[in-house]
Amino acid sequence: MKKPRVKKGPDVRIGFHTSIAGGVSKALERADELGCRTMQIFTHSPRQWARTAISEEEIKRFRDLRSELDITPVFSHTSYLINLASRSDDLLSRSIDFLSYEMDNAEKLGIEYVVLHTGSASGDDEKKARKRAARAISKALGKRKYRARLLLENTAGQKGDITSSVAALAEIAEQCTSDGIGGICIDTCHAFAAGYDLRKKGGVEQLLEEVNAHFGDEGLRLVHLNDCKRPYGSGVDRHEHIGKGTIGSRGFRNLLSDQRIRKVPLVMETPKATDEDDRMNLKKVKGILASIR
Ligand SMILES: [Zn+2]
Ligand SMILES: [Zn+2]
Repeated sequence: MKKPRVKKGPDVRIGFHTSIAGGVSKALERADELGCRTMQIFTHSPRQWARTAISEEEIKRFRDLRSELDITPVFSHTSYLINLASRSDDLLSRSIDFLSYEMDNAEKLGIEYVVLHTGSASGDDEKKARKRAARAISKALGKRKYRARLLLENTAGQKGDITSSVAALAEIAEQCTSDGIGGICIDTCHAFAAGYDLRKKGGVEQLLEEVNAHFGDEGLRLVHLNDCKRPYGSGVDRHEHIGKGTIGSRGFRNLLSDQRIRKVPLVMETPKATDEDDRMNLKKVKGILASIR
């Protein structure tokens, strides 16, 4: 029997969105190599409707490797093609189907959380679109008892966005008749682009107060820790390396000083030209954490 390779790290769980090139289990190897203690993956190609079944061998490899490593929780991010608020019946039903497929994949792999951008209003009234999204999620999750929980993610406030505020996410969660929603994911780049000024302590406080008011103490399950390329309030979703964007080091100090953020897994979706980029961002975040404590 192999000896368990569980490593002791800092009490904050940090990881990256990690490539599954070569198979889902390869992502665990990559995360471990970097010294990560959590990670996010796509369980398939995120820009294609085509479905490829994950082989039984690969599922076993993933589960076996996970039992040896301290990488938990694992998040899967849903396809960018999904639009659960679409007015097109065809796209809507394809999206509902695809979300069930995402949940099935997570179930097979023992992934704890599935992260979802619900979709956009495509010119329709936002409230109506959110109602449609809630109905679609209820349908996708159906009566199945998934162990994986669905997390709704905030968006940057682009045209047609229906989830750029915490209140908007709550509106969808409250109208959902399935109990499969496990909380929310806050993306710092999206929040900043959507008008939460994280450069200021007051902006972080406002965001976290809204989270607490709508979702309670345990509602925040994941933070996507990303700096932002575009100006504050731009509504544009472009991620930047930590500290090098418009949120900046001061903003991340504000965020990471708060226990409500530190207790949640932090997953970066920062630009990645080489593995060196991940190492640089990890070092930056650890440096900020070390300077706080
Ligand atoms: Zn994100
Ligand atoms: Zn983004």
